[in-house]
Amino acid sequence: MRFLLRFCLLFVFSTAAALAQAPGGQLPFELKLIGPNIWAAIDDAKGDAGANAGFVVGDDGVAVIDTFENEAAANALLAQIQSFTHLPVKFVVNTHYHVDHVAGNRVFAQKGAVIVGHHSVRAWIHTENLKFFGDNITPGQKAMVANLLAPEVTYDTGVTLFLGSRRIEVTYMQGHTGGDSVVSIPDAGVIFCGDLFWHKTLPNLIDATTSDWLTTLAQFTDQPRDYTTNSGLPRAQIFVPGHGDVGNMNDVQDFQDYLTWLRGAVQKAQAAGKQGDALVATVMPGLKQKFGAWAFFDDFSRPNILDMGAELSGTKRVPSPEKK
Ligand SMILES: [Zn+2]
Repeated sequence: MRFLLRFCLLFVFSTAAALAQAPGGQLPFELKLIGPNIWAAIDDAKGDAGANAGFVVGDDGVAVIDTFENEAAANALLAQIQSFTHLPVKFVVNTHYHVDHVAGNRVFAQKGAVIVGHHSVRAWIHTENLKFFGDNITPGQKAMVANLLAPEVTYDTGVTLFLGSRRIEVTYMQGHTGGDSVVSIPDAGVIFCGDLFWHKTLPNLIDATTSDWLTTLAQFTDQPRDYTTNSGLPRAQIFVPGHGDVGNMNDVQDFQDYLTWLRGAVQKAQAAGKQGDALVATVMPGLKQKFGAWAFFDDFSRPNILDMGAELSGTKRVPSPEKK
């Protein structure tokens, strides 16, 4: 499929680009201060980091959320963290198993960080990631997937991490792969959503169950619009997506609308007997009209329609829940 090809090309390109980067040169991401001692690392326009990441500095250490698609980008993030603080990276949280969020785990583990993730991240990281490279996967790509460092601490429903007095809540939520987590910093009204939120970007639905996903998104958007921090300062909720720029609740609502619209359109076309190419041809014009300006439209629009069709007809293959 085309988006898999794109994924592979991006991977090769971004690794080469990041490796070629001179010390002190352009970063593969943009760092944004989004709360007190909380930074989002937003992938650059070329996709050099492959996905977003972020970090939180507490009293006695740092927690990193996701580690990009390549070790060069992870090394660049580590260097940025070390330029802000001498505190060690204590924890890395993987929001899900997809390779564009976990490829730099080893960079932080080598500095003593503990990699934390839902038990399915550990179960799927070395198996399910192979599919992104297609049938012509190279020995080098196979070795890269085999060499990914799996979480060393796992959980079922969530875990609370402490950086001194700073509390970080990691919460399992369903929809994107069946093994995703969000990372929230309650004292700042910040939520790192991983790939449960895509900001003005078509999502990858390859492992998705959108019925569960919409339930998850409703939990985000049902929250009060004003958030009061522990210090008493009002602060709007800040949502860091897995792909796209930092967003607010309205942006999450837009993404919710995308999944809802796509479900409705595919359902209607299926009721009229459309399948395969005919399903795509029926849904595509409306999709393009409403969401044609979003990122990854050319890559993901067709597979999104087909993935939604498979889910709604009960034929979707998703990663199977693993025993621990
Ligand atoms: Zn991703």
